[in-house]
Amino acid sequence: MIIPPFSKQAMTDFKEKYEELLKENSILRRENEFLRAKSGIDHDLRTSGQREKTSRENVLLEHLIDSIPEAIAIIDLEDRVVMVNREFTDLFGYTPGEAVGRYADELIIPEDLKHDSVKPSEIAFENHRVTRNTIRCNKAGKRINVSLIATNVLIDNEIVASLGIYRDISIEKKNQTIQEILYNISTAALNQTDIKEIYPTIVQELSKIWDTNNFFIALYDKASDTLSMPFFSDEKDQFERVPARKTISKWAIGLKKSVLLKVNDMKCLENSGDIALVGAPCKVWMGVPLKAEKEIIGVMAFQDYHDEDKFSQEDVTVLEFIANQIAIALQRRIMIDNVIMASRKAEEAAQSKQQFMSTMSHEIRTPLNEVIGITNLLLQGNPREDQMDYIKTLRFSGNHLLTLVNDVLDYNKMESGKIEFEKTSFNLSDFLKDIQRTYSFRSKSKNLEFDITRQNELPDDLIGDPIRLNQILSNLLSNALKFTQKGGIHVFLKALERTAGSTKIEFIVKDTGIGIPKDKHDYIFESYTQASPDTTRHYGGTGLGLAICKRLVELQGGHIEVESETGKGSAFRFVLSFGIAEKSEITQKGDAPESYAGLEGKRILVAEDNKINFFVANKFLNGWGVKVTHAENGRIALSLLEKEDFDLVLMDLHMPVLDGIEATRIIRNSDDPRIRDIPVVALTAAIMSETHDRIDNLNINDYVLKPFKPRDLFEKILKNVR
Ligand code: ADP
Repeated sequence: MIIPPFSKQAMTDFKEKYEELLKENSILRRENEFLRAKSGIDHDLRTSGQREKTSRENVLLEHLIDSIPEAIAIIDLEDRVVMVNREFTDLFGYTPGEAVGRYADELIIPEDLKHDSVKPSEIAFENHRVTRNTIRCNKAGKRINVSLIATNVLIDNEIVASLGIYRDISIEKKNQTIQEILYNISTAALNQTDIKEIYPTIVQELSKIWDTNNFFIALYDKASDTLSMPFFSDEKDQFERVPARKTISKWAIGLKKSVLLKVNDMKCLENSGDIALVGAPCKVWMGVPLKAEKEIIGVMAFQDYHDEDKFSQEDVTVLEFIANQIAIALQRRIMIDNVIMASRKAEEAAQSKQQFMSTMSHEIRTPLNEVIGITNLLLQGNPREDQMDYIKTLRFSGNHLLTLVNDVLDYNKMESGKIEFEKTSFNLSDFLKDIQRTYSFRSKSKNLEFDITRQNELPDDLIGDPIRLNQILSNLLSNALKFTQKGGIHVFLKALERTAGSTKIEFIVKDTGIGIPKDKHDYIFESYTQASPDTTRHYGGTGLGLAICKRLVELQGGHIEVESETGKGSAFRFVLSFGIAEKSEITQKGDAPESYAGLEGKRILVAEDNKINFFVANKFLNGWGVKVTHAENGRIALSLLEKEDFDLVLMDLHMPVLDGIEATRIIRNSDDPRIRDIPVVALTAAIMSETHDRIDNLNINDYVLKPFKPRDLFEKILKNVR
C-alpha cells in the first residue's frame, strides 16, 4: 500500500480530525464504515461532501494502520483479504495487490495447519477476541512463529469482518527452544547412567531446530589420530570410527573454530591439500568444535546433499552456543563418571581388604585356638616349675595374639554392618565381680591399684548385651593397664537417668598413666591410629581397640569421650542405656564352683571336626569324669543321637558335611522328645561370627567361646546338662 507524502496542512487536519474522532468515540464505527466502503458494501452513502471527508479519513486510517509495527490483515466474512498493512507485506512477502481478494487460508496458513484458521464465529464465541501463538508461512513457504490476535469488526452488534494482527515471535521462540534444548541436554547428561545414552537426547533436541538426518558427533582421539562417532546419521554414509587424517572434522578441530563450508569452499580446501574428502560429497557442511576446558574433544556437524543454503551463519552461531553447553555437560558427565568409577574402585578395594582381613583372621584363629587349648592342657598336667613359666608365657602370647585377631575380625564385621546386639538379662554385680577379679589380678602384677566404685544407687538386674559391655570395658581397662606404670586404675559407675523400665549408666575408666595430648583426642578413636608413632614400639597394639569401643558404644545409641593431658592420666567416659529386668528373669549365678565336681558319669556327644580341638576338649571332659562320644560332623552326630542316649551335645557350629547350625535345627524339629529336648551347648569361634543371624531362634542352650576356658566350659555344661 503506497502512502502519499503528507503536507503540513494535511497533518494538522489529521490531528484535529483524529482528536474529534476520539471525542466522539467513533473510531471503530468510522473504521467499519471505511471497511464497508472498501468492500463496496455502502456505495450509496457516498455523497460528494461525504466522499471528500471519507477519503481524508481513509488516508488517516491507512496511515495509522501502516505505522503499526505488527502485521495486520482485514478479512471479510467470506474469508477474503480486504486489506493488509505494510508490516504484513514485510513479514509475509505479499504486497497489498497480491493479497487483497485472496482467501486468507490460502495465503498464509501452512497446509498442515489449515485447521488452525480462526473463523469469525469462533472469535465471536470467545467474546470477539482470540489470542494464540501459532505458525503461519510467508510467500516463499517459510514457516514463521507468530503471536496472533484475531478480533471481529462489529457494526450494530453484527459481525461485518475480522481483523488479524500478527507479531513475529520467531526469535523469542528460538531462544525458548534453545533454552529448552540446553536444559534437556544438561539434565540428560546428569541423569543418564551411561554417557552413550546422552547422544540420542542431543540429536533429538537438535532436531527441534535443524534437520538431523545428516548429522554426526565425532570425538577425536589424539593418540591414535582417529575420530569415533558416538552418533552418526547420514543418508549416504555409515561410519563408526575413521582415521582422522585429512577429514573436514579434523581440519575444523585444528582450526578450533566453527565452520560453514559450501561446495566451492570444500573444493578450494581439497585443491590446496588441506582436506581429503571421505564419503559422499555434500553441498554444505556446518560444523562446530566441542570445547571442554580449552581442549577440543571433537566436533558436531550437519551436512546437506541438496541445498547449499540449508544452513546460515546464524545457524552456526546458535549451534556453536549449544555445542559449548553440550561440551560442558559432556565434560561434567565424564568427571562424574570418573569420580563414580574411583569411588567404586575404592569401595571394591576396601571390600577386598575387609574380606582378606576376615579370611586371614579366621584362618589364623583356628591354629591359635589349638595352641591355646594345648597350653591349657599342659598347665593342667602339673608341669615342672621351669616349664610352668614357659607355658604361661606361651598362653599369654597366644591370648594376646588371639585378642588382636579378634579385634581385626570384629572391626571388619562392624564396618560391614554385620553386628547385632543381644538383649539379655544379666546381673550387674556379678558382671562387675568378674571384671574386678580379672583386672585386680592383672593390676597387682604391675603393682597398680584397681577398684570399681558405684557412685549412686544402680539397678542390679539389667537387660542389654553383657558381652559387648565386657568388650568395651576390657578394651579401656587393657589400655589403662598398658599405659600406666604407677598409681592405679579406677572404674566409676553412676546412674544418670532412671525410669521404671530403663536406666542410663555412665562408666568412667580412669588411670594415672602417660596421658594423651589434647590434639589427639579425636584421632585415637579412628581405626589403626595411635597417639604417637612410637606407641606400637613401646606398648604394642594395633590402634583398633578404641575404634571398636566407639563403634560398639555408638551402635547401641551411646557416646564415648576422653579427658586427658600428657603426663596426667586419662579418663574415658561412656554412657549406655539398659533395660531394667524383673528379678525372676535373672538366673542366679551364685559363686563359681570350687571344684570340677558334678559331671561324673554324664554322657556328652562332642560334635567337632577339628581333631586338636576335640583332643583338648576330650582331655578336660575325661578329667571331669564325663563319658565322651565323638562325631566328626553334624550328620554323624544326628545318627548317633538316633541310636544312643546323651545328656548334652557340645556342638561346634562350623563343620563340614552338615554344620552345627543345621544339625541343631534338625534336632529341634525332631518328633522324638528324647532328641528334640537335648541340651545343646555351642562351641563358637566368636560370638560375632557371620552366622550370628542364623543362630537366632535355634534354642541353643548356651555358647562357649573357643578357645574355651576350662572353667567356662565346665560351668556351662553343668548348668545345662540333663
Ligand atoms: P592400641 O591400644 O591397640 O594402640 P587403641 O585404639 O586402643 O589402640 O588406642 C589408640 C591409642 O590411644 C593408643 O595407641 C594410645 O596412643 C592411646 N591411648 C588409648 N588409651 C590410652 C590410655 N589409657 N592412656 C594413654 N594413651 C591411651
